Amino acid sequence: MNSMYQDLEKVLFSKEQIAERIKEIAKTIDNDYQDKRPIMVAILKGSVMFYADLLREMQIHAEMDFMAISSYGNSTKSSGEVKMVKDLDRSIEGRDIIIVEDIVDTGYTLKYLKSTLKTRNPASIKVCTLLNKPARRIVDIEPDYCCFNVGDEFVVGYGLDYAQLYRNLPLIGVLKKEVYSK
Ligand code: 5GP
Repeated sequence: MNSMYQDLEKVLFSKEQIAERIKEIAKTIDNDYQDKRPIMVAILKGSVMFYADLLREMQIHAEMDFMAISSYGNSTKSSGEVKMVKDLDRSIEGRDIIIVEDIVDTGYTLKYLKSTLKTRNPASIKVCTLLNKPARRIVDIEPDYCCFNVGDEFVVGYGLDYAQLYRNLPLIGVLKKEVYSK
């Protein structure tokens, strides 16, 4: 069988560790938005697994909407160029927005997203990310909620891809070097 698992060098966070941490983050968001009804904005495609699990753990009312941003392509390096591929369906004027991201790396994507959404006059914008890679930050920007910090290595799984693959791994890991040179 051509299994994804044989391409992994190591596992960083197991399915159980991810689920546990998401429960904690959901509780914090429930607490912070007690009397509010935030619009949870998923950034496609990387955040889908995290988004679906996070929202199911939350108890407050929340609405869903989706945005897509141009990605790395097949490379593992950020270009700093960010382009919107799919916009939100509805107005966010006067609303509380929580952007749900897969990973904050250089910070270019987040800066673009926040400044774009800010021009639409929401009541507030916060950012919730599955992963944070502070060592690679170029833009001075920080997520408000974060499940895990990672070091300067390219990670896959639980929504995160390499060349559109490995998104359906239930865990987060690092690929063997030879996979990149295939
Ligand atoms: P930034 O604009 O912060 O540099 O990059 C954010 C985007 O780059 C993420 O949403 C993600 O798509 C991609 N990215 C950054 N680091 C990684 C990584 O380690 N693994 C994967 N699969 N994607 C990454």
